[in-house]
Amino acid sequence: MDIWDEIKRGAQSVFDESTRFGRQARLRLQARTLEDELGDLIFDLGTRALELHRRNELHHFELDETFAAILAKQRELRAAEAEIEQMAGREGAAVQPGACPDCRQPVVEGDRFCRGCGLRL
Ligand SMILES: [Zn+2]
Repeated sequence: MDIWDEIKRGAQSVFDESTRFGRQARLRLQARTLEDELGDLIFDLGTRALELHRRNELHHFELDETFAAILAKQRELRAAEAEIEQMAGREGAAVQPGACPDCRQPVVEGDRFCRGCGLRL
């Protein structure tokens, strides 16, 4: 076989291999980016759905159990945070004006419900 052909074939296979690796790396990056974007969208969907549920505008038997679980966890979290704050001896410094009386999330004028806990304001 012609030595040139062999060299060309070798170079071609090195080129193919590096192209394949480059494409693989690009695909991995693309997949990771898409995964991140999907995660953000699903989180956003969950947050919006929860907000609608709090406003009593979204009920579905397949979702209500999850909503209830999330709301219970949020209450648990707030209780734990409150206790931490109390133990740190900052209980007096707590509620500033413009904060939800229940969860202390900042409240913007015009808000009918707390963005943190859904309390009607
Ligand atoms: Zn609140």
